[in-house]
Amino acid sequence: MLSPLYIIVYLFVFAIGAIIGSFLNVVIYRLPLGLDCVKGFSFCPACKHRLYPKDRVPIFSDLFLGRKCRYCKKPISPRYMTVEVIGGALACASWTAFMPPIGFLADSLPAASTLPLPHAETFLLITNTAIYFIVLCALLTLAWIDHDTMEIPDRFHIIIAACGIMMLFFGPGTGLKSHLIGIAAASVPLFIIMIVCLFARGVEAFGFGDVKLMAAAGFFLGWQHTLVALFLGILIGGVYGVYLLAAGKKGGEEHFAFGPALCAGIGIAMFAADPIINWYLGFL
Ligand SMILES: [Zn+2]
Repeated sequence: MLSPLYIIVYLFVFAIGAIIGSFLNVVIYRLPLGLDCVKGFSFCPACKHRLYPKDRVPIFSDLFLGRKCRYCKKPISPRYMTVEVIGGALACASWTAFMPPIGFLADSLPAASTLPLPHAETFLLITNTAIYFIVLCALLTLAWIDHDTMEIPDRFHIIIAACGIMMLFFGPGTGLKSHLIGIAAASVPLFIIMIVCLFARGVEAFGFGDVKLMAAAGFFLGWQHTLVALFLGILIGGVYGVYLLAAGKKGGEEHFAFGPALCAGIGIAMFAADPIINWYLGFL
């Protein structure tokens, strides 16, 4: 049972995640339009009225204003609050994975004694929590942009690959070889499927952005966990595709963005790849 102090810590971690989620909303909206994501005022997408800090308190502004713009009363898309809540949840998940008392991924980190740093253990826990949260934020943002535009901007691949470099030094000890093989482990099969579908049936099953995503994620995760991510991604995308067909939202030849499914697979693999591998090996 978590003590009251931990509940307060979790509320604080959730709030930080939700505030960052609020910024991710800005990126999701502005990046595809080529607008500056940092400078400039926030504005209502409907009436273009400038939004002040009181209009932009994550989650609460939406709740208290009944998901309507304060100025034009037009409804605000539920996606803004959804991204803020997911941002908070991802921060809590990253925290739970590494920080005591739960810290179920902390055991797989390199031994603190191998780092010539003061407070090496605390450094490792905070660094890994931050890296995980950054990658999850990149996945959340690129998934939403891919869903909207069917394109994944390259900067997200670069962020994930850069976090992969950090993982080489401070992350769970899978070694350089595993990370290098990871670049090709899922991206090459995906690329082959893409080429085969393109030439055999003239359909684009995956985009090149998906291939690059799996290359960057493979470098971040190492090859073993990347294969789990790919398997989960294809499973989730397949189920979602069947749902779209069954619900009549897309025709048989129509294309839908596969990036969000791959992102979900990568996100789950970051936390649960080892139990999934062990579970699978139990059947052999
Ligand atoms: Zn408005």
